[in-house]
Amino acid sequence: MYVCFMGILRETVLGRTGLKVRTLGFGGIPIQRVSEEETIKIVRHCYELGMNYYDTARGYTVSEERIGQALEDVRENVYLATKSHQRTAEGIWKELEVSLGNLRTDYIDVYQLHNVTNQQQWEEVRAPGGAMEAVNQAFEDGKIKHISVTSHNPDLAIELVKSGLFESLMIPYNYLTPKPAEKLLPLCKELNVGTIIMKPFGGGAFSNANTALKYVFNDPSTDIVIPGVMSIEEVDENWAIWLGDMSISEEEKELIEFDRRELGDKFCRGCNYCQPCPQSIPISYMLRAEKQMLRRMGWSDSRVEGMKKAFAKVETCIECGECESRCPYELPIIKLLPESVASLKVHMENRTIP
Ligand code: SF4
Ligand code: SF4
Repeated sequence: MYVCFMGILRETVLGRTGLKVRTLGFGGIPIQRVSEEETIKIVRHCYELGMNYYDTARGYTVSEERIGQALEDVRENVYLATKSHQRTAEGIWKELEVSLGNLRTDYIDVYQLHNVTNQQQWEEVRAPGGAMEAVNQAFEDGKIKHISVTSHNPDLAIELVKSGLFESLMIPYNYLTPKPAEKLLPLCKELNVGTIIMKPFGGGAFSNANTALKYVFNDPSTDIVIPGVMSIEEVDENWAIWLGDMSISEEEKELIEFDRRELGDKFCRGCNYCQPCPQSIPISYMLRAEKQMLRRMGWSDSRVEGMKKAFAKVETCIECGECESRCPYELPIIKLLPESVASLKVHMENRTIP
């Protein structure tokens, strides 16, 4: 049964996967920041509300394990999606086994190659001995039910989708990152590739969840939207928006325009068009760390170490400007990088969240 209120579907089929999904799903990144007990309550609450699509990743530390714990006894009623950054077959085999154990299941509904964002990664995964070999075999073995991919690069994603190798695609899309709506999402519809939208709130940078969520749901090319959540209150808020009137008022349109003006030249979309940097500076990592990554994931000892290494890299910037000439959003990267470092150092010292 398809549930449709005021012209917007609340239940749909995820492209060629054929999975019948509620269009509001669970994004498993932020639960890394809350206790195990609280996470299980949150996930269980989502299940009791009727959410049936749960997304996590091998790279989200404890996320898989906690989702597995929370949903073990209702496994057959939900769809579990996870992903791996591994680019080789050997790497995929190792991570897939860990994911299956963590999720307490013998199959993954949607298994995604995680963030295939540049040509080199795309070639690596298709090369002999590459990740695709393992996912195809795991599909044959029944350990993976559907093969999918995630990317931050809408241009490369067009190639991924056209390859015919993937049944669904996950991509960031929000009112500050509207590019996927131009060609990519309609192409997915045309080719019957399911669309899973991540970062509807700009990875935590937007304050008005209501408007941001409605914006992506209003696009008929989106199948599932998976905002990350870290409290029952956030789940309830999103659920109420999802069930409510999705029309966007004049006042909300103004808010979108305000955010575009205020954040447009500071907000890094993580597309990595600015790379390669001759100094190997992790530009998008630095620019997204404060308002996006830390808000979702918080501090940890390993994050502090990673950040210190990134700070040292930023100091090697030779201001060649290559990154700025490639950034489609014209971000003043050379100015923003040291500003991010200065601000992050203060937060790091006190382990505060921006
Ligand atoms: S300006 Fe700095 S960050 Fe940008 S490409 Fe050159 S060295 Fe890298
Ligand atoms: S700096 Fe620009 S090009 Fe680089 S990741 Fe951010 S938005 Fe994309």
